[in-house]
Amino acid sequence: MTGSPLPGVCDELDLASAESGPQRTQTLQARGSALASPGEQLRLLNSLPLAGESFDAALAESGCPDLRPARLDVFQINIGRLCNMTCRHCHVDAGPDRVAENMDRETIDLCLAALDRTTAHTVDITGGAPELNPHFRPLVDQCLARGKQVMDRCNLTVLLLPRFADLPEWFAARGVEVVCSLPHYRKRNTDAQRGDGTFEKSIEALRRLNAAGYGRGDRHRRLTLVTNPGGAFLAPPQAATEREWRAGLARNHGVGFDRLIALNNMPIGRFLEWLQESGNLQAYTELLTQSFNPGAVCGLMCRSTLSVSWDGTLYDCDFNQMLDLPAQAPHERRPHIRDFDPAAWQARRIRTGRHCFGCTAGAGSS
Ligand code: SF4
Repeated sequence: MTGSPLPGVCDELDLASAESGPQRTQTLQARGSALASPGEQLRLLNSLPLAGESFDAALAESGCPDLRPARLDVFQINIGRLCNMTCRHCHVDAGPDRVAENMDRETIDLCLAALDRTTAHTVDITGGAPELNPHFRPLVDQCLARGKQVMDRCNLTVLLLPRFADLPEWFAARGVEVVCSLPHYRKRNTDAQRGDGTFEKSIEALRRLNAAGYGRGDRHRRLTLVTNPGGAFLAPPQAATEREWRAGLARNHGVGFDRLIALNNMPIGRFLEWLQESGNLQAYTELLTQSFNPGAVCGLMCRSTLSVSWDGTLYDCDFNQMLDLPAQAPHERRPHIRDFDPAAWQARRIRTGRHCFGCTAGAGSS
């Protein structure tokens, strides 16, 4: 695998730039920030003077001493960090300049070969904006041909780029679940995180998805919204939030959705930078630690997910991927999808760190 731009990706980037989505900031990488380095992010997190124990100690106290894999249900493929947006809270540090980090065809084929050897029923395709990868549609079709459910993690605004205008119907014809980021059902809260104009574009994208049959209770056209807090606090209770959002979006904009997932922001990537710059890092990390909920441990995504990065490296989850904490592998080698061994995967010990408290705080965030 190489880090060089893929054939077609530069063209896609030019198009994305010409009709770019809203920009809240620039990527850490484009700004030359020290936090562009996963090692620097880990160093910063580990340098905080926290009164609580390590995540592993908190697990042990909860009666779950060793985080062990359960059945593998979700095969997650991060097909690139290219995005038409640069949201403030992005833990991936995705953006229009991330041209080099995009999965090539060879790695996609390796993923498909590995997928055939797993028990996973769902393929979770994420990015960046995964739709920008020229191999996105063939990958979706290949997964569906294998009888898998497919989820597309969509930033919504990408659906307004002219060459993606057919995507809602294309998804609907295939039964792809569309999982969309929408920080809030009010314009001000959403634009503050994702850039001016995001909310209007997102509502227009939701209307197009509704017109294609999404958000109307059809399990083959499921529209999931993902919300995350606009500041250094935990995600609100999910059921009440879903009711409020459903009413607000229907009343104000006439759009519907099928379910809402409320997630905590992880202290990773650009959200970590915002925490540091706003003076919230210490207090937020303490909040995550003190809000440890043993009831969230069973459902941690790392127990039932395999996460593959654009270059084929294997991780326990998307968050470990962004901190470049590869999954445990025999012989200390960096695990790669070409060497995927289902038995070794199920026998591994999941790697943890302070960031894991973000997954177990409050109602949990996996
Ligand atoms: S960050 Fe990843 S490894 Fe840690 S608890 Fe969450 S899902 Fe598991």
